[in-house]
Amino acid sequence: MSAYVAPLKDMKFVLQELAGLGAVGQLPGYQEASPDTVDAILEEASKFASQVLDPLNYSGDREGSKWSDGQVTTPKGFKDAYRQYVEAGWGALPISADWGGQGLPRLVATPVEEMWCSANMSFSLCPMLTQGAIHALELRGAPVLQKAFLPKMASGEWTGTMNLTEPQAGSDLALLKTRAVPEGDHYRISGQKIFITFGEHDYTENIVHLVLARTPDAPEGVKGISLFVVPKFLVNADGSLGARNGVACASIEHKLGIHGSPTAVMVFEGAIGYLVGEENKGLAYMFIMMNAARFAVGLEGVAIAERAFQRALAYARERLQGRDLAGGGTVPIIRHPDVRRMLMLMKSQTEAMRALAYVVAAALDVAARHPDAKLREQNQAFVDLMIPVVKGWCTETGIEVASLGVQVHGGMGFIEETGAAQHLRDARITTIYEGTTGIQANDLVGRKIAREGGASAKAWIAHLQALDAELAKSGNADVKAIRAALATGAAAVSESIDYIVAQAGKDVMAAFAGAVPFLKLMGVVAGGWQMARAALAAERLMASGDKAFLEAKLATARFYADQVLVQAPGLRDTVVKGASAVMAVPEDAMLAA
Ligand SMILES: Cc1cc2nc3c(=O)[nH]c(=O)nc-3n(C[C@H](O)[C@H](O)[C@H](O)COP(=O)(O)OP(=O)(O)OC[C@H]3O[C@@H](n4cnc5c(N)ncnc54)[C@H](O)[C@@H]3O)c2cc1C
Repeated sequence: MSAYVAPLKDMKFVLQELAGLGAVGQLPGYQEASPDTVDAILEEASKFASQVLDPLNYSGDREGSKWSDGQVTTPKGFKDAYRQYVEAGWGALPISADWGGQGLPRLVATPVEEMWCSANMSFSLCPMLTQGAIHALELRGAPVLQKAFLPKMASGEWTGTMNLTEPQAGSDLALLKTRAVPEGDHYRISGQKIFITFGEHDYTENIVHLVLARTPDAPEGVKGISLFVVPKFLVNADGSLGARNGVACASIEHKLGIHGSPTAVMVFEGAIGYLVGEENKGLAYMFIMMNAARFAVGLEGVAIAERAFQRALAYARERLQGRDLAGGGTVPIIRHPDVRRMLMLMKSQTEAMRALAYVVAAALDVAARHPDAKLREQNQAFVDLMIPVVKGWCTETGIEVASLGVQVHGGMGFIEETGAAQHLRDARITTIYEGTTGIQANDLVGRKIAREGGASAKAWIAHLQALDAELAKSGNADVKAIRAALATGAAAVSESIDYIVAQAGKDVMAAFAGAVPFLKLMGVVAGGWQMARAALAAERLMASGDKAFLEAKLATARFYADQVLVQAPGLRDTVVKGASAVMAVPEDAMLAA
């Protein structure tokens, strides 16, 4: 079975040439992120991913987390890997130095988190959610809560969870029922949450749950939701652990993938909870955190795609089957054009997704730290536009890539021993949690396009047009072809935006019927934008850099333009011409039985 090797060359190329690591390292407070430091971090992270996390991925999937009498035991080796992770300080990487973290930019944490997830997605989820919980407390927690919880969470001594979902409230959090009754300086929380990732586990003594609930006289719907911290064990004034709180894990789910990650049913029976921020603003706080959480799940799509690609590539080089079309004996299947096509689809889309994700990570850093308010605002608008795209497109494409990985393996892909099937099973959740693709697409079309008349998207298209002028200067045949495909893609996006903005005012169903194809179109073109930039950088560096890598990058960008970006006009047609057909067949006539 192939071992995971972090794609360090590509990661560094994207960081330096596309995402502007140099400029991010100049932002106030980020000066530690020098190229040498970042290189050292990536090298160490790649060792941890390959040597500690990857060897547990397959066994963790086979064994799964186990529930017994309220306790959850993670698969063999996970607890020790988590101990090593904490001791090495990995959990603290992007956390503010105020809480004992290393305060590194999101751009630096991003490739590191990609490695954790490629090597072992189940393992990576607990730190990812802990970071989300830390982020919420940092942003809105009262100082007393921050002091009680953040240092231990930043060090990894305690982990965090996000408790949103209830049986009747998934995509629609307006329906949630968990109650929070005030009592002195705290609240009593009662209700049931389902599907809570790492809601219970054996890694740490304490687990800090962030819980959405309603106070007794809260307004109906999303306006009456508040956010609470509910620790598994209460914390004494001196920081030591106190009594067990009234929250318990009733069971964990049997599921399609991420078997190592326990998905818990949590029961709150008058548990003590502390309000985060103000009452009834819980959903607004969740929205602040959502960019980070949705970005993190989008990155899971990139990570799984990379892992699936590596495994398929290794198999394709070893598996002997069929004769060389050009004449000759039995060959490894990588010699067959169709297998090459599948591998290149995997490679090119993975690289395009990685580039887009890292560029968005850099924009998150600039939006948070740049001294110029206008630049902060512009970058935030770009982030807001692109987050649903990173989440929706990278996860949908991650599944496609993992499925291609199974196909490259032939029958062995369907058999668990090769590990290819695990990637497909693991990837499958990424388009569902943290907002399904449908919900991301609604957000993109409703909040990011229709509401502002397409302004941010048109500002982004202006970047594509500026790039066109750069591409026009190249005499390289690949760059010329990429330029033409990108121009067609940009026009397809622009026409779709005009359609959505026009429809939103008169036929809202038609505007939203093409929401997911529009999200995909945005992803395909944004990926093409980054691959075009990568092609230009490769051309520029060719004389002085790693020639084999740069030639492959240029050829991969060309492949992406010819085989992926070329889908843009079809997607536009789905948005513009196909929308009405979506609603045409009456509900009762759907089943022609
Ligand atoms: C393994 C796993 C881990 C999870 N971890 C967590 C966690 O840690 N914390 C947590 O709080 N939750 C967690 N979840 C819950 C997850 O976020 C929800 O499952 C998800 O938000 C979808 O909600 P739902 O399952 O109720 O589906 P539903 O909301 O019932 O959706 C069903 C279908 O309807 C579509 N749909 C629903 N509403 C709309 C709409 N308005 N427009 C268009 N389409 C729509 C959806 O896209 C989907 O295709 C987890 C779930 C799983 C399976």
